[in-house]
Amino acid sequence: MSKDCLFCRILNKEMESKTVHEDERCIAFEDINPQAPTHILVVPRQHIASLNEVAAQDAALLGHLQLVAAQLAQQRGLAESGYRTVLNTGRGAGQSIFHLHLHLLGGRGFRWPPG
Ligand code: 5GP
Ligand code: ZN
Repeated sequence: MSKDCLFCRILNKEMESKTVHEDERCIAFEDINPQAPTHILVVPRQHIASLNEVAAQDAALLGHLQLVAAQLAQQRGLAESGYRTVLNTGRGAGQSIFHLHLHLLGGRGFRWPPG
């Protein structure tokens, strides 16, 4: 828990979010400024600032975030049409909240490479 962290406040229920999944290791909620018809953030309960701060012991947690994203994509019927999971690391890559989170985006087409 970091007291200045927006996602820690959401995890602590000090701030509202449209939660779509909760388990012992993470929660998932709708992004406040969606960039696609489905835009969900999968957020570990543990405060890790970014992928730059992860250690070998976090491997299972990182895998879990991807598995939860895949499960949510299945539930929303995105498995066939395709979806994207994105983890921005550092300001240069677009990270604005320094509590690690996986974006799940779907429901529209995506270009490659991303901008
Ligand atoms: P980043 O830019 O760090 O990869 O992603 C941060 C995401 O958090 C952005 O997509 C932004 O729209 C979302 N976000 C920022 N503040 C809030 C908030 O208060 N609630 C929710 N649900 N999403 C937020
Ligand atoms: Zn945090």
